[in-house]
Amino acid sequence: MSESLENLASVLTPPGRGAVAVVIACGEQAMVAIDARFAAANGRRIREQEINRIVFGHWRDANNHREEAIVCRTSQAEIEVHCHGGPAAVERIIGHFAEADCETIPWQQWLERQTPDKITAEAKIALVEATTLKTSAVLLQQHGGALRNEIQRIQQLIDSGEGSEALERVNHLIARIPFGLHLTKPWRVVIAGRPNVGKSSLINALVGYQRAIVYDQPGTTRDVVSSVTALEGWPVALFDVAGLRETGEPLEAAGIALARETIAAADLVLWVEEVDSAMSVGDSEFEQTVASEVNQLVGQPLAGSPLVVLNKCDKLGESTQAWRPELLVSALTGEGIPELIEEIIERLIPFAPEANEPIPFTQRQSTGLTRLAEELESNQLEAAVRLCDELLGHELSAKSQ
Ligand code: GDP
Repeated sequence: MSESLENLASVLTPPGRGAVAVVIACGEQAMVAIDARFAAANGRRIREQEINRIVFGHWRDANNHREEAIVCRTSQAEIEVHCHGGPAAVERIIGHFAEADCETIPWQQWLERQTPDKITAEAKIALVEATTLKTSAVLLQQHGGALRNEIQRIQQLIDSGEGSEALERVNHLIARIPFGLHLTKPWRVVIAGRPNVGKSSLINALVGYQRAIVYDQPGTTRDVVSSVTALEGWPVALFDVAGLRETGEPLEAAGIALARETIAAADLVLWVEEVDSAMSVGDSEFEQTVASEVNQLVGQPLAGSPLVVLNKCDKLGESTQAWRPELLVSALTGEGIPELIEEIIERLIPFAPEANEPIPFTQRQSTGLTRLAEELESNQLEAAVRLCDELLGHELSAKSQ
């Protein structure tokens, strides 16, 4: 597609992660750069190398500095260079392509150019950022066409004048956007509560290992600390916020502001209380009191109600039976932690995504679908069809052909 016309180069491997880096380049100028810099052990120039043959050799710079490299001509005018993974080697090689007038583009752009279908390309890019098997599986289904097929179906419905069914389907997709955007960005759960109730210990219990130093003194957890983990296979970032107490101390006041910001951006707030046998059992008034207390401390109403967790249930002995089990935990013994995890996931992902369910997963798709719903609501069917084309990236593939 792009290879015969443009001179491009891109680094396909992430910085500083692997022992080997891959630089890819295409176009006439890329071939010129290879002939100027790469001496193949078999003595042939790049055009004489067989396609897909792995060629060992040396990469040279102007000072005759030589470095081992492997070059593979992957098609008529496209080559891959495999070099040492350190940033210096990568920069040197990409710099040589740039000197030969190859434009350096980010790997995402390279992938988009190589993948004619826009949503498939977006799924490939998102897959790189997916951190768990479950999130990867949902993205793989989008890569396989789940979302693309659904948008095509919606477009056909609009074409045949069935705007209201199309709108229903679009609204269904829109309802899945918050879930879809989290496939590449963990859900944010804030653990809040008064000092010493066991917030840090609870995070350790949820993460499954000892993460932070736990002190017996109130107010030792001052900054917002986050740990990213997977709960039931979904990526979740747990935030431990400073004790939210009003204070005259400027340092603590800054901590409180930061804690409030973190809470405002959270998908879920866990409010931790130390269980007390004097608490009246199953008391909804208690939960309401806590909710208003949280709102007051946070300084603004929360998007959803906080999940109240009663910690240190190991201290209660026998009198624990009547509490809702998901609320009652012991960070110390691990009691109630699996039930708490289940409850957290139910709150974050209230539906189970079905196999091959279409899920929008990028901001671009989210914006496009929201606009599509607006056009359908105002019965602008022609504009709606164009928006479907845009969502599918038809404009883009038409341009690059
Ligand atoms: P934070 O200030 O809310 O982060 O509280 P910490 O996690 O620092 O815990 C305060 C104290 O309570 C520490 O001494 C912990 O060992 C103790 N603690 C935490 N969770 C439990 C629990 O479930 N049971 C008991 N008995 N002690 C706990």
